[in-house]
Amino acid sequence: MTASGPDQRRIAVRITPDALRQVRGGHPWIYAESITSLGGPGAPGDLAVIFDDRRRFAAIGLYDPGSPIRIKVLHRGRPATIDGAWWRERIAEAADRRRTIAAPGDTTGYRVVHGENDGLPGLVVDRYGETVVVKLYSEALVVHLDAIHDGVRAAIDPARVVVRASRLVASTLPAGLADGTTTVGAATDAPVEFDENGLTFAADVVRGQKTGHFLDQRDNRALIRRHAVGAAVLDVFSCSGGFAVHAAAGGARSVHLVDSSPGAIEAAARNRRLNIHDDAVARCAFSHDVGDAFDVMASLAARRASYAIVVVDPPSFARSQSQVPRALQAYRRLVALALPLVEPGGRLLLASCSGRVSTEQFVTLVGDESARQGYELDEVVVSGQPLDHPVGFAQGAYLKAVFGRPRRR
Ligand code: SAH
Repeated sequence: MTASGPDQRRIAVRITPDALRQVRGGHPWIYAESITSLGGPGAPGDLAVIFDDRRRFAAIGLYDPGSPIRIKVLHRGRPATIDGAWWRERIAEAADRRRTIAAPGDTTGYRVVHGENDGLPGLVVDRYGETVVVKLYSEALVVHLDAIHDGVRAAIDPARVVVRASRLVASTLPAGLADGTTTVGAATDAPVEFDENGLTFAADVVRGQKTGHFLDQRDNRALIRRHAVGAAVLDVFSCSGGFAVHAAAGGARSVHLVDSSPGAIEAAARNRRLNIHDDAVARCAFSHDVGDAFDVMASLAARRASYAIVVVDPPSFARSQSQVPRALQAYRRLVALALPLVEPGGRLLLASCSGRVSTEQFVTLVGDESARQGYELDEVVVSGQPLDHPVGFAQGAYLKAVFGRPRRR
């Protein structure tokens, strides 16, 4: 690892007037096509200094030659030095914004840094009690890892730091560092326990999806818990059972989990056990299907199964703009499959975590497809992501959920 400091390499960049306008307006991304001149070959993590046509400083960002989002903007406006102190300050500010979210005994698992939305593009820092996971979604961050570590230690001083990296970034990590390496404190293979809404969960921070737990559904899980008394609940794309365990704690009669990953179902069973001292959780009957959610939902409907609450929280179907039409099609199918599974008077929660599908688009789609299937959605609540996942630019508003009561017309 190398530290970012005065010796950090810089390259001068010019971009199109339109891109410049967007950057000045606060947009954090500069696409390769918008770059009109580049003062050097540029290595991942170099500091790209963006000048306007009068040679004035406009912004500074991370150069990322392997990504179509070629520059990730770190700072705009007056000239600034991006050094260890800069990283420390940004991370401290982000941690400070979460002070009211951390509530020992209630919620100790939360996001400390939410990438672009906290002015730190490509960087996610999730906290699970005394363990912090630093996840890199951009190769340009790799040379700045020392500075990021310093910032995390100064702001949080956790007992353990685990570094995770998205698949592409993992292949660029220096020797001695891999996806899942513990860089601070003692390594552990055991899932790390933390609290969420007063319940206990465990995150597999080394191998689990994302950073080990989907922290972004915390508020929506609390919503389901409030409506779960006496309910039979179906949790589709359950992953480690965040919704199911909340429903059980809220007094659900039964929860049925569906996920294609056997590991996710095992994690859900563990999360249930961690809360078994709660009478409501102990009384709730847990069952599951490991399989493709589309097939399982169709076969549940064929058996005329029905539930007072159906939760459908699929993975992001649109990883690029070109996949959006297919993603919308998949959402439509899920609406059509879910509606017959909701018993009369029951409720449906449908979520989308595709940043490229807007809230408006998703809400419209759910309404339209419901109508096509002969249903009206009553008492609709549209919700998003919790406060530790702030929205700093349009694409930052990635999570939306429609919660409503389907009524046959
Ligand atoms: N609801 C979860 C998060 C869901 S993440 C929570 O609250 O934590 C998406 C999940 O969908 C993952 O666990 C993944 O294993 C699962 N998955 C992806 N494709 C699937 C498919 N076709 N059928 C069933 N599960 C799928």
